Amino acid sequence: MKAAASDLRREFKRLFRSMSFVSGHPALTRMGTQAKRFAEIYQQFGMLWEFLALQCGHTEGWRKTREGKIVCKTCGTVRNVAERWLLLPQQGTKIVGRRGLPNSSNTFPNKKAASIVDDSIEFHGSKVTVSVHNAYRSRLFRREGHDITIAADRIVRLREDGIECWLDSHLIEIKMRRRTRLEPPAYHGFVSELPKRVLKRFPLLVAYNQKGEFVGVTIFRPTRNTPSKVTARTKSRHR
Ligand SMILES: [Zn+2]
Repeated sequence: MKAAASDLRREFKRLFRSMSFVSGHPALTRMGTQAKRFAEIYQQFGMLWEFLALQCGHTEGWRKTREGKIVCKTCGTVRNVAERWLLLPQQGTKIVGRRGLPNSSNTFPNKKAASIVDDSIEFHGSKVTVSVHNAYRSRLFRREGHDITIAADRIVRLREDGIECWLDSHLIEIKMRRRTRLEPPAYHGFVSELPKRVLKRFPLLVAYNQKGEFVGVTIFRPTRNTPSKVTARTKSRHR
């Protein structure tokens, strides 16, 4: 990581040297094809600068320019200006962003003001959404005096093949499919509360270790095209 950072610093020094060489070239003071060519080269350097800056984590510190802007010591990116592109390596680990957590004990007036990260990525057909927010007030039923406070949280959702895995600071939830608007909300029950006849139809394994500690859950994928059959059979059995 350290070697990569110093490589990047060297690359930027070379780039900035080339840029000042081109920008100060006497050909640019005269009109003509040569001036055009130099102007184009400068534009290409500019693009290279943008893309190279995407690899910089801005970890070497910031400095103030003569114009009073705060810029990265390594790449010259202006601080707090939204980046428009991400450059990811084809090979190896792709890293986008850092692990953000709620960073304030204040309650914000609305969701937008409380938001720290609200971002998603599609990765080879799977979607990951990360939402980090501080506490905020939300108006329930859109009526005055019905404000509720939504606690600060970090919510990560992974969606794959119609199944969603939801992780926040209190829950780990797996939704096998999205509820349609006509369906009533699902029932919830602890495993110990469920009658055996219902439990028998759940392809669910609870894993625990020798100390009796919970270590995980395994869900067998229910067969796709038979749910209607199952319901029909159980219905008749209950009659
Ligand atoms: Zn930088």
